[in-house]
Amino acid sequence: MDRVNNPYHDEKVFWPYHKDKALTILRGELPSPSLVEVDPTGEACNQACPHCCFGSSPHRKMVLVDVEMLLGFLKEVYECGTYAFELVGGGEPTNHPRIIDIIRGISLMSNGDSERPHIGLVTNGVRLDRVFPVAELLDFVRVSLDAPDATVYNPAHGLDSGSNHFDKVIGNVKSLVEIVGGERVRIGYLVVPPYNHGRETIRDVVRLADNLGVEHIAFRPAFLADTKTDRVVWKEIAEVVCEVKREYRDGFVLGGIGGSWDYAVGEKSHPTGLCRTRPLVLTIKADGTIPHCFLFRERLAERPAIGHISDGFKEIWFSERHRKLALLAERSHCPEFCKLYRADSALGRLENIIKSSQDIPETADSEVDNPHFI
Ligand code: SF4
Repeated sequence: MDRVNNPYHDEKVFWPYHKDKALTILRGELPSPSLVEVDPTGEACNQACPHCCFGSSPHRKMVLVDVEMLLGFLKEVYECGTYAFELVGGGEPTNHPRIIDIIRGISLMSNGDSERPHIGLVTNGVRLDRVFPVAELLDFVRVSLDAPDATVYNPAHGLDSGSNHFDKVIGNVKSLVEIVGGERVRIGYLVVPPYNHGRETIRDVVRLADNLGVEHIAFRPAFLADTKTDRVVWKEIAEVVCEVKREYRDGFVLGGIGGSWDYAVGEKSHPTGLCRTRPLVLTIKADGTIPHCFLFRERLAERPAIGHISDGFKEIWFSERHRKLALLAERSHCPEFCKLYRADSALGRLENIIKSSQDIPETADSEVDNPHFI
């Protein structure tokens, strides 16, 4: 697993901020989450990616989060010791007409006595210019650029061949790098066979990311419910990613090994047992619903929601109802991969260290990228 500069690396749970929360879980209590994932918009999107895990598309009616209600709720979470806020999904976050108010509002929650709020944005980048006036308030921006050119990009994003989205995204990334510096800008590359997994495609997009001056490009395998990709194919793709990685500076190309790749190539089998680290991430859908966890946003019939932001954070998060719902988090019914599978393994190691009365190691600051995010 990549460690240096890798925002997703396995040992993050040992960094003090997360470790305190992990220790709370091991005591059988609920911590305030490490991270809040917010969907500023839902259901509608300006793109129609065939693999969208939210099922969003341009043909649906957009749901917009209520900004005042959201900020009131987040302030309560922040005051309970949560310092990471990611604007991520449902639909495309920058489509919210008040996205600037949301970013500014989160940044203003700080009272000066505690850690400042950290804000990340995950975006398709088409309307990224809308957040330029507040870009300095963002700790990172991850742009989903799953292609090196429009020919690959358009079908992978459900666009017709005349779309200008690819050029817009490239222009916006260049401008953002000029405004905030490349170290805060990342490229996310979801590998979705058959659209964008070819050797030359992967080589070309890494070269493009290097030319754009971003901090890194992270490759992730897409686990699709309806189309299964053979492990042999994933192994070949992983080898290409690792091969290209060796040609660039350390930490610039992420993926191909560790994390989700271990599950795609069959290195690791699907975990079973209760997910204990689920409370490290709280998710808010655009309609204000707080689902059981981020991967069950759209599967509320299987795992009921914890509550709604109008109820207030402390009221629902530390409730008896939430404690009972936690018992539904059996991982054999979870998707093929979840980022918290790794956090749960790290939690198990932490538990063993405590049981054997050894000193608990700490992840060095130099190894942790965007340390408050998990
Ligand atoms: S492991 Fe399962 S319960 Fe836990 S966060 Fe992931 S999808 Fe949710």
